[in-house]
Amino acid sequence: MLSAFLKRLLFTRQFFIINGKVEVLNVQLVMLPPDVIFEIQNLDEKKSYDIGKKIAHDNMRLFAKKLGTSSEGILKDIQDIYETFGLGAMQIADLDQSKKRAIIRIKDSPTANLYLEKNKKKSSKAICIFISAFLAGTFSFLFNTSVDSVEKNCLAQGKDYCEFIIQSKQSKKIEKIKKA
Ligand SMILES: [Zn+2]
Repeated sequence: MLSAFLKRLLFTRQFFIINGKVEVLNVQLVMLPPDVIFEIQNLDEKKSYDIGKKIAHDNMRLFAKKLGTSSEGILKDIQDIYETFGLGAMQIADLDQSKKRAIIRIKDSPTANLYLEKNKKKSSKAICIFISAFLAGTFSFLFNTSVDSVEKNCLAQGKDYCEFIIQSKQSKKIEKIKKA
């Protein structure tokens, strides 16, 4: 089965898998097992986060360009685009464009599923570093400013979904001052 978004792209010849090539919106993608992300993020969490954030940012810019839209215009397609990467289903629980803050829920994180499968027990901490990085990069593009993502709840901890708080370092500081 294909999502409505991919069906639309298929119809307009902007999605295909042929001759060893996977293309979405004329952007080449690679299908790999989630183990690749899982093992790489475990090698170096900080580096994986930084690289993942940059890659997501640059790819969202590319997708926006292909769709002929701005960072704001791409917002309505962001869930669909995100889901073509196979990184789980995205739900926007909260979004404040003026404060450049968002709460994102990801259902069925492939890295969390893999963790549970490999360890046969729950994790004591959130483990979806690459997804966190991917969201940070995506929303940095959407908000036109660098934001970071912190995973507050994770499927690997036995929660129903993974939840990420996305905000800039600046707004985090303001929040701390307000709380103090
Ligand atoms: Zn998670």
